[in-house]
Amino acid sequence: MAISESDVLKALAGVRLGERTLPESGRLSPVVVDPSGRVVVSIAVDPSEALASEPARAAAEAAIKALPGVSAALVSLTAERAGGAPSPRPPAGPGGRARMPRAQTIEGVKHVLAVASGKGGVGKSTTAVNLALALQAQGLRVGLLDADIYGPSAPKLLGLGGQRPRVISGRILEPLDGYGLQVMSIGFLVEEETAMIWRGPMVMSAITQMLREVAWNDLDALVVDMPPGTGDAQLTMAQAVPLAGAVIVSTPQDLALIDARRGVAMFKKVEVPILGIVENMASFACPRCGTVSHIFGHGGARQEAERLGVPFLGEVPLDMTIRETSDSGRPVVATASEEPHAAAYRAIAAGVWTRITGGTASRPSPRIVIE
Ligand code: ADP
Repeated sequence: MAISESDVLKALAGVRLGERTLPESGRLSPVVVDPSGRVVVSIAVDPSEALASEPARAAAEAAIKALPGVSAALVSLTAERAGGAPSPRPPAGPGGRARMPRAQTIEGVKHVLAVASGKGGVGKSTTAVNLALALQAQGLRVGLLDADIYGPSAPKLLGLGGQRPRVISGRILEPLDGYGLQVMSIGFLVEEETAMIWRGPMVMSAITQMLREVAWNDLDALVVDMPPGTGDAQLTMAQAVPLAGAVIVSTPQDLALIDARRGVAMFKKVEVPILGIVENMASFACPRCGTVSHIFGHGGARQEAERLGVPFLGEVPLDMTIRETSDSGRPVVATASEEPHAAAYRAIAAGVWTRITGGTASRPSPRIVIE
C-alpha cells in the first residue's frame, strides 16, 4: 500500500513540539515520500532549541517508521523555516546576549583548550580524556566537554554510560563526575542509538549550549574534544569557542599527517595558538617478545611539527592497555597511573600547561634569568 502525505501527517499528530502537535506547529517542511516508501521531512527550529527539540525529532521518526508501507524515515532538524525561506537572525537571549555569541569567556572556566584531529579514528577522544586526567594529576581543576556531537565517546571512555545530568535551574545542567573531571557530553542527553540528524547551525548551537549552559565549577582548564575533521562546522566552532589553544592528534601515517596539517592550518586561520602535535599509535611493543616496531614509520609527526613551526608534544604508543582501559571506561591515567603510558600523557599535559600559562603557544618559553 502506497503511503501518502496525509498518512504521515496523521502519524505526526501524536508528536508534540512544545505546546502544539507537529502538524499544528507550522514547523514541518513538505513531506516527501519516494516510490520505495522512504519518507523525508524536516522540522524547522530556532538553533537555540536544538537540544530541546531532539526528542520530538526522534519521536517523529519513530512514528513514521511504524506506519505500514514505510521502508525508511528520515526526520532532520533544520534552522531554515518550512518552505525554505532563510530563518531570521536569532533574537538576543536573556540579558541581551546574542544567541550565537562570538568567543567570550565562559563562566567558571579559566582556560579552554581544544583537542582536534584532521580525521576520525586517530585516538583524539582517548587523548582528550587522558590529557584532561593528566592535567588533573598536576593538581588542576579540570573539565571535559565532549563536543564530538556525531560520535560522543566521553560517556563510554569515563564509564558514565546511561547517566543523565541534573538540571540545576532553568536550562543550566550540572556536569557529571568522571574520575574527578567535570564532564558534559551530548551522549548524556540523547539515546546512544539515536543518530542525530542535525544541520550545521543546530550542531553549533548545541555545542554553545553545552559550553555555556553548564555549571562549570571553578575550572582551571576545560578540555574540549572537538568533532574530527576540518570542515566548515569545525572552523565555525574554533571561532565560537574562546580557545586558549589547540592540541592536534595525529597517527604517523602520511595520510593522517596531511590531515593534521589541515588541522594546524584551520586553527592558524582563526588565530588560535597551536599548543602542539601529539603522535598517537607511534610505536608498538610486542607483548610476547618486547620488540618495539614502528608499524607506520617513525618520527614523521615530530618532523612535520618542526616543518610547520609548531611544538611536538610527545608520542603515545599503540598499546593494548590503552585500548582496553579506554573502551572499558577506565582510562589509563586514572586507573593505571604507574604504567609508562600514563607517564607519557602526563608529560604531554605538562607541555600543554606550560604553553598555556606561559602564553608562549608555538614559541619557546622566554628564559628567565635571576641575578
Ligand atoms: P577518535 O576520537 O580519533 O575517533 P578514539 O579515541 O575513539 O579516536 O580511538 C579510536 C580507537 O582506538 C578506540 O578503540 C581506542 O581505544 C583506540 N586507541 C586510541 N589510542 C590508542 C592507543 N594509543 N593504543 C591503542 N589503542 C588506541
